[in-house]
Amino acid sequence: MKNIIKNFGYQLKILNSLYYLVFLTFFTDLSVIVVIKHVIAQAGFLNLALLSVLAALRVALYGGSYGIITEIISGQELFFKFKRFKQNIKDNWIFSVLLIVFILILYFIALINNAVSNTSLLSFFSYFDIVFCLGVGYLIMNKKYTFVRIEKIHFDAQLLFSMLLVYFVKIVLAYLLSNWNEGSTLVYKLIALTSQYLHFLLFVNIAMQLNKNCSSEFHRNETPELYLINPVMPGVLLPIEHAFIGNWYCFYPPAFVVIGALTPKKYKIREFYNIFWDDRYFKKGKLVAITCCTSNAHEAYRIAKGFKEKGSTVVMGGAHVTFVPDEALEYCDSVVIGEAVGVWEEVINDYEKGNMKKKYYGMDHLEYPESVHNTLMSLDNEIIPQFMQTTRGCKFNCDFCSTPVLCGPTIRKWPVENMVALIDKVRKKNKRILFLDDNIYADPKYYFELFEEIKKLKIKWIALSSLDIAKNDKALTLAKESGCEMLRFGYEISDQSEEKRHGGKLSLANEYRSLTRKVRSKGIHITAFLLFGFNSDNFKSLVNLIKFALVNPFLINLIMVITPFPGTMLFNKKVAANKMRNLNWMNYDTQHFVFKHDNINEAVYENALRVIGTILFYRPLAYVFLSVVFVWLAYVIFLGT
Ligand code: SF4
Repeated sequence: MKNIIKNFGYQLKILNSLYYLVFLTFFTDLSVIVVIKHVIAQAGFLNLALLSVLAALRVALYGGSYGIITEIISGQELFFKFKRFKQNIKDNWIFSVLLIVFILILYFIALINNAVSNTSLLSFFSYFDIVFCLGVGYLIMNKKYTFVRIEKIHFDAQLLFSMLLVYFVKIVLAYLLSNWNEGSTLVYKLIALTSQYLHFLLFVNIAMQLNKNCSSEFHRNETPELYLINPVMPGVLLPIEHAFIGNWYCFYPPAFVVIGALTPKKYKIREFYNIFWDDRYFKKGKLVAITCCTSNAHEAYRIAKGFKEKGSTVVMGGAHVTFVPDEALEYCDSVVIGEAVGVWEEVINDYEKGNMKKKYYGMDHLEYPESVHNTLMSLDNEIIPQFMQTTRGCKFNCDFCSTPVLCGPTIRKWPVENMVALIDKVRKKNKRILFLDDNIYADPKYYFELFEEIKKLKIKWIALSSLDIAKNDKALTLAKESGCEMLRFGYEISDQSEEKRHGGKLSLANEYRSLTRKVRSKGIHITAFLLFGFNSDNFKSLVNLIKFALVNPFLINLIMVITPFPGTMLFNKKVAANKMRNLNWMNYDTQHFVFKHDNINEAVYENALRVIGTILFYRPLAYVFLSVVFVWLAYVIFLGT
């Protein structure tokens, strides 16, 4: 009994992770039924065309859904991937058509013989659900994996029990639906939706049964697997976003490209990024590489611990782990300190020999290995633009930034011809490129060499830069000519701030207004990064910051709380001064004051900054909002009673 419940729980878990497929297919079915009614009433061209489109959509959705469920059950995939879904539509649409036609024929035969006079088509399909799911499941499995002959299929007794149970409930619902007089009520639709859910649950169950009769390579577990994981960031909205749209939109982690390039081809690589973690992904006997920054370190440690407990080998890396390796080692087997380039081959070799070291030190590489470039050239056109980085490192040395500590004073540059080749490869499908450089103007000489070439490729681009680019008119003109749409500048302080006396990049504050005007005069939009919480900041600084954000022509304002990330000079200074008040890494998200401030109440300002940051985020909207508030106040004061 315990096993039956466990198995059933697993089936529910799989299906619940694909709930949107249940909804999508359900709404498509409803639409098909509505349009069929219209066609019966009036078979006009538009109605017939709409019906054809919906029927094609239905076939595609079902084919893709059955395929993706089969792949998840077999272990080929662990979760929904849109790319696999599309492939499954291509591979399986025909099976769902064949079986629908088969059951339709049965239905019409039954109709002719008056056997189903009181049964709707939908209910009729329910009665044949087991046959249908078995048929589709068998055809998909048989095409895809090494499969036993149909007459030798062995059915598991425990799974059979839950299958019959689900089928029984489905039959009861089908009976209810076919005897329901008011077919458009909410209750009717809820029962129909439940019935749809049970249909897929039945398919999950049958796919599990059939899977036990497969002997594919996935079951023999001979292929070594590398799990690459970049956990989700904390926050209220992100988990909701992930729950609803999964990894359909996401930013491909650059570390995956590098590690993927340096891993021997015999490894099957599974990638997890922007995934709301499900414990069923924990597996034993895998090599697991987790990269994280400070704010998602908590989640990264949880995942590392889960894999270790299952019996996998876990390696962690990334900026946070580089700065606190001993903390990370409490949860994983090994850490990579610094960049994986130059050390990842050693990690793999040691893993294969079963002789992992605790710490691996990534070496300083002035250039990326050619293998990384070659891998990039072989990747999908959608992924490459998410890894466009021309340089690493920065010429400035801001104490709150981890770049100077991570990259040192040397600026690494990708060969111009490699960058040009990459952009040339993707530009047909991706006209707009976001460069990931810490500072696109880190090395002015290289900048001129590169963008003179990029100019010929006719793309649009966006990048982070230091504002000193505006001191050189030729550099700005080249930016515009090579397709720059927006530059993202770290203004950090307002031009009234005392911090400008500290020198370095902050001393540019004296010229903020004139330099900003120059950038805008070239037609380049600006995103401004503004920090609050410097030593001298107080209420007056906040007012100055708001004025600064409104007066300057920034399209987007990102206002954040200054955060001393572990490893930065600022963190060390705050620790030395005994000012750190919060070492919960989840709060290191630039929205929380994690240190004690001398002049302000941290909690009050933290919340005030969130509100101000939201209002000022998009400058045109900020003006609309402030105008509405102004008019409302004027009305209340002068005209109100
Ligand atoms: S200019 Fe930007 S990237 Fe460079 S050190 Fe300062 S904050 Fe970091």
